[in-house]
Amino acid sequence: MDEKTVLLGKVGPTVILPRQGGQVVPLRQTAPLRVDVAGGGPVGLAFACTLKSLLGDQVSVRVHDRRWMRRGNRVVWRGTAEGNNRREQVVTLQSNVWAALPSAVQQRLFVPGKFSEMWPLGPDSPESKGRPRNIKIRWIEDALLDMAQDTYGIEVIPEAYVRPDRWDGLHVLAIADGARSATRDSLSAHFGTPSRELFSVDGSPLDERVLGIRVTAKVPDEHTVPLTVAQNRFLFNSLGGGFINMRLTAEEASEIVALGENGPVSCIGNTGCTMRPSGGRFVCDRHRAVFKPSVDKLSYLWPRILDGLRFFGVGAADVVGITSFTLGMTQMSKFTAQLAPSTFGFLLGDAANSLHFWPGRGLNTGLKSALSLAVNLQKRWRGKAFRAADFAAHEGTMQQLQYREKSRAWTTMLMPDSEGVPRGIEDRIREGLQGPFDRASLVSTLFERVLDIKKRLGGRMGTLATDEWYYGRINAMDVRTLKVMVESSPWITREIGGEEVVVPSAEVSSPEPIRRGLSLVS
Ligand SMILES: Cc1cc2nc3c(=O)[nH]c(=O)nc-3n(C[C@H](O)[C@H](O)[C@H](O)COP(=O)(O)OP(=O)(O)OC[C@H]3O[C@@H](n4cnc5c(N)ncnc54)[C@H](O)[C@@H]3O)c2cc1C
Repeated sequence: MDEKTVLLGKVGPTVILPRQGGQVVPLRQTAPLRVDVAGGGPVGLAFACTLKSLLGDQVSVRVHDRRWMRRGNRVVWRGTAEGNNRREQVVTLQSNVWAALPSAVQQRLFVPGKFSEMWPLGPDSPESKGRPRNIKIRWIEDALLDMAQDTYGIEVIPEAYVRPDRWDGLHVLAIADGARSATRDSLSAHFGTPSRELFSVDGSPLDERVLGIRVTAKVPDEHTVPLTVAQNRFLFNSLGGGFINMRLTAEEASEIVALGENGPVSCIGNTGCTMRPSGGRFVCDRHRAVFKPSVDKLSYLWPRILDGLRFFGVGAADVVGITSFTLGMTQMSKFTAQLAPSTFGFLLGDAANSLHFWPGRGLNTGLKSALSLAVNLQKRWRGKAFRAADFAAHEGTMQQLQYREKSRAWTTMLMPDSEGVPRGIEDRIREGLQGPFDRASLVSTLFERVLDIKKRLGGRMGTLATDEWYYGRINAMDVRTLKVMVESSPWITREIGGEEVVVPSAEVSSPEPIRRGLSLVS
């Protein structure tokens, strides 16, 4: 063999390639980067697909999720019959995020009928990239699980991830098993413990209860935007239907009770079950319990829910499900940790940063973390063990994201008044529910806000409804609902706006053709 034309690698098996003239050239191929992902939600799957699209055969990826099961030779999502309530919420992806995903992923996600453009351009959705896009989280999960298997050849394992005793040969553990991450908790010696201290008021962690009312919509998605932005009690995010989210006081939250045959049962209040319409009532499929406010003639909450629906042109008959969430935030000290001499662990998605969703940033932040890590790994993988310094840029981005997104969400939770003094949403709602009520003045205040928002949004989104339509929506409200909306204040867009954290793009049309793990010596 002619030594001058031998291809040398550093590690791994020898590959024999044909050479001009009929001779063969032994080639040593670099061993692939070995990656495990704990959690195959939207962030775990997006990370796995992006990394595969960037590194091709240079990486071998396995993803574990406990909400999957095997059907024939495929892995699919468990359904209700298998004890898994699929998530139905509509999320808004900013164009700095969706346009940075690999183009094959974009093409698969954004097909007609599966997304809409409801929200305006802004700092995280610049005109050059396009408007934010609404999409169902369930569709993201379905499409990415298919792509992981069919397009990228990722090994998908329908089981809970269990931390191994030894990290033999694993280079990267990406931890994306959600806000209550068991994997992160099992590695607290490396990552520290999430702290609630910074997101507390008078020494108590601040939690908010939100009711999620899933509806089919009658009006174009975009038309509801000025109504949502004019107040902070209700938020409607829609894709021809979606969730009307309603922020609650503690007294209202205590009404979120499910009644079984023998009294209250642990259901929507603690396990997040969805109550679905059944004969004029709302019933949980799993516990056969009834959502109490919908059958309780003395309920304070039920008429307030119906008023919120009416605001967005939705009736009780359009409600297809009711669920509830508790939202609070924690601070992480670090997101990257060396687990063993050759193994690094990374917190991604909600396992890293769980956010209050009112500004709609949880998944955007999670996808930014996934993109940042995938691009960092692509830049740094040289076929041998990583060093801590390789991840300085990624850890920096994670700290920036934590600062930017949690400051934004915390401001939304504290709701400072015009003097900058915090006046939390609960206090505002309670004050709104008390008289005196001046109907004419409340209608006029809310209508002025909507007109002002319409003017500001003009040019950044499509055509909105007429002024008369908005006046009609506002004037249809009960006076208590009107006062709560006025007290809750319009969205504090100036305080939460400003520069955004931009992460590198993984937008490539195909894997790089040149294998960088090979070195040519001649
Ligand atoms: C009502 C509502 C509205 C929202 N709206 C928006 C919005 O408009 N914009 C936005 O950006 N974000 C929004 N969010 C937030 C967004 O839904 C989350 O940030 C996102 O789902 C986080 O994705 P993830 O993959 O990190 O975690 P998850 O979606 O929680 O996925 C974690 C996965 O890990 C799996 N898992 C858990 N434990 C294990 C284990 N031990 N082993 C294996 N697998 C495990 C779970 O089965 C799950 O599939 C909203 C959230 C809510 C509740």
